[in-house]
Amino acid sequence: MDKTKVWDAVLERMSEKISRMEFHTWFKKVQIVEISGAALVLGCPTEMNKNWLESKYHGLILSNLKSVLPEIERLYFKVDLSLADRPDEKKAPKAFAEQRAPRKLPNQPDARIEPGLDTRITQAKFTLKNFIVGEETKFAHAACEAVVGTKLNEKKKYNPLFLYGGVGLGKTHLLQGIANEMRAKYPNAKVLYITAERFMNEIVDAIKTRKADEMRKKYRRVDAFLLDDVQFFEGKEKTQEELFNTFNDLYEFNRQIVFSADRPPSELTGISDRLRSRMGWGLLADLQMPNFETRLAIVQSKAQEQQLILPPDVQEFIATNVRSNLREVENILNQIGAECDISGVSPTVQTVGKILRKINPERAIEITSDGKSALARSTDDVITAVGEYFQTPATDLLGASRKKEIVYPRQIAWLLCKDVLRMSYEAIGEDFGGKNHTTIMHGVRKMRDLARKDSPTARHLHALKMDLGAK
Ligand code: ADP
Ligand code: MG
Repeated sequence: MDKTKVWDAVLERMSEKISRMEFHTWFKKVQIVEISGAALVLGCPTEMNKNWLESKYHGLILSNLKSVLPEIERLYFKVDLSLADRPDEKKAPKAFAEQRAPRKLPNQPDARIEPGLDTRITQAKFTLKNFIVGEETKFAHAACEAVVGTKLNEKKKYNPLFLYGGVGLGKTHLLQGIANEMRAKYPNAKVLYITAERFMNEIVDAIKTRKADEMRKKYRRVDAFLLDDVQFFEGKEKTQEELFNTFNDLYEFNRQIVFSADRPPSELTGISDRLRSRMGWGLLADLQMPNFETRLAIVQSKAQEQQLILPPDVQEFIATNVRSNLREVENILNQIGAECDISGVSPTVQTVGKILRKINPERAIEITSDGKSALARSTDDVITAVGEYFQTPATDLLGASRKKEIVYPRQIAWLLCKDVLRMSYEAIGEDFGGKNHTTIMHGVRKMRDLARKDSPTARHLHALKMDLGAK
């Protein structure tokens, strides 16, 4: 069978397991480049693409390959840059075309909602399904699901639902997720998501234009009222009063109310007692920072949404270092996306380390994987960094030339291997072309002395250590 036919047949089979988007992101430009006995080589247009297929799809591809060509035992991937700009890229196999298009969630202003109840601020991208659930958020997520699952005019199980947690832990995501899914489930429902700030501004406007009554009627006719960031109401007495009255009305008629805040009601000090007590009538659910594995899943899911291919070590690196605010994940991915577009280079732990430092210069960057530095894993990383920094080819760094302009960066590299990678003199000697450990030791000592006396050397070392992610 010819290679194209084999690959078409494999894709056809995989169409049940992978989505259209995955196909477009990762398979469109892939080709079989070689079949030889029991081995098959797939060509990928970029390093990133190769890494991704290798780590995520190896098993799936191989098992489907075997069902097309039973003799295949081993699958390899290689980068074939010519595939990147091949015009005749693969069309999605028919099976993909027949896949149901993803359900479009409404993000348009809802025509059934009177003017003034503007819902445009709900973003379709937030759903309860794409909220990654971990131990720390399981309860809150389940509560949101339950809210969506309760019929509109029935007595509510959790009313109000009060979600609280720090900045960037997913409160807005969940509230908008409820809004989107309720609207999809009950197309006629009036679901209002609004931020506390906007709610207040509308009240102020309505008072100014003497339309307060009209506005009240609008709010009190909704089926679900989702109010984000109510800590904003602290000290705003008039708005609190309006909210209190709205609450009573909606509650009486069994309308769902959901609040979010950065603290539980009991800690909202500037809010009237009667309002606070009502906020706590239903269910309180808190959101905490998810653990590493969940953060990793969030990174992967966001990368996929942005059609960004990240090598596994980069994913882990981001998940390790985003520790307080998940909004950063999206920021980082946006920057990576932009930088890759501009430079055409796949992201590495080093480049992402720089992005992290740009976003938050105060942060101590943590290294990943079993105590070994993922930032500078090997002698190769040191050689690459030093080579780039001093514009010295790796062959010179590894070689035996005694020219001053080569010996200097070479010895700097040894010192970095010693300090950043904590290698022994013997191991460094081995990696640098089989040099004697005493040679290495002298070189390292010489550089240490120099760094103490000579400020350019100290500066180079500092810059290189930063590059390699060591503090
Ligand atoms: P908050 O409103 O609590 O400040 P957001 O809802 O704006 O936080 O969340 C910040 C970002 O983190 C959003 O991009 C959101 O999609 C993302 N996020 C937070 N938690 C999760 C999660 N569990 N799964 C997927 N994305 C999440
Ligand atoms: Mg928010």
